[in-house]
Amino acid sequence: MLGLMQQWPLLNHKIIDSAARQHGAREIVSRSVEGPIVRTTYGEARTRALKVAQRLARDGFKRGERIGTLAWNSARHLEAWYGIMGMGGVYHTLNPRLFPEQIAWIMNHAEDRALFVDLTFMPLVEKIAPLVKSLEKVIVLTDAAHMPESKLPNVVAYEDWIAEADGDFAWLAMDENEACGMCYTSGTTGDPKGVVYSHRSNVLHAMIACMPDAMGISSRDVILPVVPMFHANAWGLAQSAPMIGAKLVMPGGKMDGASIYELLDTEKVTFSAAVPTVWLMLLQHLEQNGLSLPHLNKVVIGGSACPRAITEKFEKNYGVQVIHAWGMTEMSPLGTLATIKPEYADLEGDALFDIKQTQGYAPFGVEMKVTDDENNERPWDGKTFGRLKVRGPAVASSYYGGAGAEQFDAEGWFDTGDVAHINPNGYMQITDRAKDVIKSGGEWISTIDLENLAVGHPDVAEAAVIGVAHPKWDERPLLVIVRKPGKEPTREAILGFMEGKIAKWWMPDDVVFVAEIPHTATGKIQKTTLRDQFRGYRLPTA
Ligand code: AMP
Repeated sequence: MLGLMQQWPLLNHKIIDSAARQHGAREIVSRSVEGPIVRTTYGEARTRALKVAQRLARDGFKRGERIGTLAWNSARHLEAWYGIMGMGGVYHTLNPRLFPEQIAWIMNHAEDRALFVDLTFMPLVEKIAPLVKSLEKVIVLTDAAHMPESKLPNVVAYEDWIAEADGDFAWLAMDENEACGMCYTSGTTGDPKGVVYSHRSNVLHAMIACMPDAMGISSRDVILPVVPMFHANAWGLAQSAPMIGAKLVMPGGKMDGASIYELLDTEKVTFSAAVPTVWLMLLQHLEQNGLSLPHLNKVVIGGSACPRAITEKFEKNYGVQVIHAWGMTEMSPLGTLATIKPEYADLEGDALFDIKQTQGYAPFGVEMKVTDDENNERPWDGKTFGRLKVRGPAVASSYYGGAGAEQFDAEGWFDTGDVAHINPNGYMQITDRAKDVIKSGGEWISTIDLENLAVGHPDVAEAAVIGVAHPKWDERPLLVIVRKPGKEPTREAILGFMEGKIAKWWMPDDVVFVAEIPHTATGKIQKTTLRDQFRGYRLPTA
């Protein structure tokens, strides 16, 4: 017997339709690339998204075709996304922090036919465009007055281009399983791999993100997504904020402490999301200038492990709730969030921060397990590590073109490449990337635990741990430190600080000081480069 309920395909344009109808006057505030703060509303954004869709269709772009975006978070970028999706196209976010050749490789692989680009990135596009065979049109997200000189053919100013449309366009009726978006993983090993989102997965992911024990956002929130739309969909906020009708504040290209603080303050932001480095910059700015955060209620921190010091400062000094979250491009990206279950409601002080320090538990819509290398499930005892595997309606089922097939198994589990343990209450803690974990005498040592501990030293700015070859133990940990400006902690001081806080055999065999630790385009420590740098390093214990 079938249910007798309506078929109402989960399509992204229904999100912007609902935002315009229910919350039409709600603002989208953007720090523009041209300089000034500009204001629009969900009502206007929908009309302009319709114009984008109409113009794309008129220019001959078709259902299923990929349209690149190389842009900061702004209302125009948001309109472009909804316009692309609403005419059946597939937005393809590009990370400007990659090398030009990598961006061109990715665009060729996805066969992007058009590109929406911010003024900031025009010099980059001049280099890339000639290398991308499929690229026919470049739409610069600005007006005629700000258009730069360009040698490229077929470059138009966004405002002129949409001004030629009246918005009298009907969103395409589609199957909810059709593709609507695309994003490539950063590819720390091998070529980047394409993740293809469907309308259904994006809508379900947005609903999951809104749930009270996930991000817990509402129409009364003012949301500042610092995390870029080109980094894992701005963690879904470009869909979940309009879905619930929250005011959006888009930071454009300025993500330094002073610029973010200015928006938090003047727009009375209540909720924000970003990677730890952004919050470090903000906290420094607050401390140096004696500022407070009277409006901000909650921040989501993820993308890499959030140092405990950040969580404690936000909560104790500024009264801001921190939600540590884990996810990945392949998961749209939310996987787990460290909100507090009733089991932990009575915890206080360090015990509470211990839980907040985990990556959290999976909301409805994400299943997870940890296994050994033979795919045997490991217990949820809060200490047995294993490969972290996930499945759900917003988790990739394969990569574009069939790359990386070994990460997906017949039961639908995706191997995240992360190593983790899960406690009896379902709270997961990442201990490493599978390729970074140190195997010392057959036992695993978590590099992330060591790094978190080392950055707790007051004179340490950043820490990375890598495995270095050892004649007896195969591999032993080497701790690489960037000191805080003006501080000179010694090897002994740092080891002394760590001693007693971890198992003895986890203690790094040596400490080296460097001026800088290499990072990937998404802000993660580039351990492959570090390992190359210290290949052949002779440990004092060897
Ligand atoms: P990306 O797809 O670029 O967002 O990268 C996803 C990867 O970032 C994950 O597989 C993790 O290795 C790492 N990651 C994301 N969030 C966290 C977190 N909260 N703690 C530790 N690692 C994280």
